[in-house]
Amino acid sequence: MKLALVGVGQAGGKVVDALVRYDAETHGEFVASAIAVNTARADLLGLERVPTTRRVLIGQSRVKGHGVGADNELGADVMAEDVDEVLAVLDEVPSHRIDAFLVVAGLGGGTGSGGAPVLARALKRLYTEPVYGLGLLPGRDEGGIYTLNAARSFQTFVREVDNLIVFDNDAWRRSGESVTAGYAELNTELARRLGVLFSAGEVTTGQVAESVVDASEVINTLASGGVSTIGYAAAPVERAKGGLLSRFKTQMTEDDGESMNRVTSLIRRATLGRLTLPCEVQGVERALVVVSGPPAALSRRGIERGRKWLEEETGTMEIRGGDYPIDSGYVAAVVLLSGVTSVPRIKELQAVAVEAQRDFTERDVASPDRLADLLDTGDRLETLF
Ligand code: GDP
Repeated sequence: MKLALVGVGQAGGKVVDALVRYDAETHGEFVASAIAVNTARADLLGLERVPTTRRVLIGQSRVKGHGVGADNELGADVMAEDVDEVLAVLDEVPSHRIDAFLVVAGLGGGTGSGGAPVLARALKRLYTEPVYGLGLLPGRDEGGIYTLNAARSFQTFVREVDNLIVFDNDAWRRSGESVTAGYAELNTELARRLGVLFSAGEVTTGQVAESVVDASEVINTLASGGVSTIGYAAAPVERAKGGLLSRFKTQMTEDDGESMNRVTSLIRRATLGRLTLPCEVQGVERALVVVSGPPAALSRRGIERGRKWLEEETGTMEIRGGDYPIDSGYVAAVVLLSGVTSVPRIKELQAVAVEAQRDFTERDVASPDRLADLLDTGDRLETLF
């Protein structure tokens, strides 16, 4: 499917950059346009793949290109004031070439946390295509203000978009890595999952299997609304000689026991392994399974068995699925679980928001010093305010 990607804030821009890179390297063809929006000039300059004409600096009259720190209320205000500039850049791509919008932001900071929900609302008002969000939750070690921002932004963002796909940095953190190197790796992992999902259906070879996933299946799965999470698993397979097209002709009908078991097992691993947002699989509203790889390895029976298993595991009958033939040395399964209900991390964030709200009201916090006491993040706040 064709997406208009909009990264808001530093993390949003970097993840959009990673998606554009994945799309270019795999010829996925799912990026119709990519835009980065920020209040910090330096962050926009640091991007590599988003074209320079599609980097939009907002809030210049207020913060002069220096960013909003972790002040997500200012991030929201600035986006509200300058949203027309962003919409004008987006308008350069005709909307008939787009199946959906994806607004990407780190929810713990300022610009993305505050600005992404405001932009999503404006897009929904203006376009009939679905507007999805991709929200990145901060690590627990980032400090209270980040958690509080994320808790508040999450509640607004999920209301403003048709579906919010969530990636929890905390669940993906690895000890001993520098933050920057760690993020680059996380962004690549995330781009791979989203890339397989969104490039499914963009196959242009003509000879396509009948169970190929198209845009409408992704859209129908995400139409549950609420929050989504994505699982992924891959296994190496022998790369057959000859191009993708010749293998379409000669190997489409191969469906042996080995490839069937491999596909079924990948679907299980994708579902039960580390999800972008860890959660209970039981009780999700809808799911979509996409299995990509060389056509010979894409066992139709394996996908069918995987779907049945997922039906039992989730308790929903609304499981869509199909294959995505690509020339690759890997078979990969991506499982999109949409309308998740039982998510400990979201409950935790909501509790933080409620608690902080009560404390704010009781203590009538007015100064950054007292806010720092309250959230126990004095060091961080000193540098932010
Ligand atoms: P903003 O520019 O004010 O929107 O704030 P940032 O995007 O810099 O940071 C918001 C949050 O996003 C941080 O607290 C981190 O949790 C997260 N973050 C920052 N950079 C990245 C990144 O490259 N990848 C991921 N996955 N998360 C990031």
